Amino acid sequence: MEDAGTYASCLKLTLVNKKGEVRYREQTFEQGEYVSIGWKQAQLVLASYINKDLIHCSHRLVRFESSEAGVDAYFEVTDENTSSLEYIKVVRTKLLVGADGIWSVVRRTIVGDSPRYLHLVDWNAYVPNPGAKVFGGHGEHEIVLLFDEDGETRSWLVDAGKGFSLWILRKLDLSGDLAKTLKRSKGGLGIPGAKARALQQLDGLDGWDDIKAAIKATDETYIFERPIMDNLPIKRWSDSHRRVLLMGDAAHAQYVGPGQGARTAFEDAHQLSILLKEAFSSSEDNSIATAVKKFEELRIPRMIKMQEYAAESTALPALVPEWVSKLTMEEKQKRALECQQWVHSYPEKMLCDPDSTYWK
Ligand SMILES: Cc1cc2nc3c(=O)[nH]c(=O)nc-3n(C[C@H](O)[C@H](O)[C@H](O)COP(=O)(O)OP(=O)(O)OC[C@H]3O[C@@H](n4cnc5c(N)ncnc54)[C@H](O)[C@@H]3O)c2cc1C
Repeated sequence: MEDAGTYASCLKLTLVNKKGEVRYREQTFEQGEYVSIGWKQAQLVLASYINKDLIHCSHRLVRFESSEAGVDAYFEVTDENTSSLEYIKVVRTKLLVGADGIWSVVRRTIVGDSPRYLHLVDWNAYVPNPGAKVFGGHGEHEIVLLFDEDGETRSWLVDAGKGFSLWILRKLDLSGDLAKTLKRSKGGLGIPGAKARALQQLDGLDGWDDIKAAIKATDETYIFERPIMDNLPIKRWSDSHRRVLLMGDAAHAQYVGPGQGARTAFEDAHQLSILLKEAFSSSEDNSIATAVKKFEELRIPRMIKMQEYAAESTALPALVPEWVSKLTMEEKQKRALECQQWVHSYPEKMLCDPDSTYWK
């Protein structure tokens, strides 16, 4: 998979305060410790491991009916070129896995809630930038992060490999007024006006020339604009028959700060595949429901902890528990390091890390 992207060797972190003074820190990574992979490349690599006949593009799940016997899933099938609706396909299945992302139709049906706005708005683009000649700001294998003291503005310039760069601009929106200026509530790619809105966020700010240059050099059709959302932790991911199950972002979309969303989606897929393999080779009637229950027992406690930690890393006062806000900087750093060690210990320490101070 690493061939599909690039590794980062160094994170350059700069903090700017209101007087324009800067503090600078550099962190180096072991090769392979931090890898950037474009979604398209990741999907192509994953698809290459599956029989092509099992992949059905242009199928959109619109509803399903679940019973003890199984699930009827209804898909709108569209023409790949024109996107016009061709027909509705009904698929009968023993288990429907809703891995349909943060705006999951499956979650809306079985849980009924909606994602939560985290009072941050993002603009980002993954753009060709061979040799950093279109815009600069980062070197080879570098991630350059700039943020201001009050957490209002953050930017990333990342070498994404294969001659591509990723830039991200993130803006705090405590009042919610910024989100109201977005043309699409869920965000999207190439939304008219997105480039001007991104540049407007940097008006009058000194020291942000590299990200300004990156935005200016990017064609608007490449710019993704979105409000940053998460899903609230829930104690059950399946329907009453245990025939419909959520995983990935549909189950536990979390604030992107700690960068664990994709990792935990892969963990879900790994655990579920182990449990379903056993269930499908069992002669017991309720083997799938048993596997689903076991999956929830293994995954939900871990994900509740990780979702809460991710939400807290937004630094929004309402999402930081009082006892955490009282920790010293040293204790916070220890807690963050222990969290990373616990997360990386998967699958051994799934539920907690008994050897840690904060993640028991
Ligand atoms: C700005 C940003 C930055 C991020 N940075 C990181 C990072 O650095 N590291 C990290 O690990 N994670 C990161 N994440 C999170 C990561 O992208 C997600 O956690 C991960 O993509 C979740 O995978 P998923 O398969 O559950 O959902 P998705 O990747 O959202 O996939 C859901 C799929 O379901 C399809 N779908 C949706 N509805 C339907 C339907 N009705 N019928 C059929 N198909 C449907 C969608 O088209 C999509 O292909 C970031 C997220 C954002 C928004």
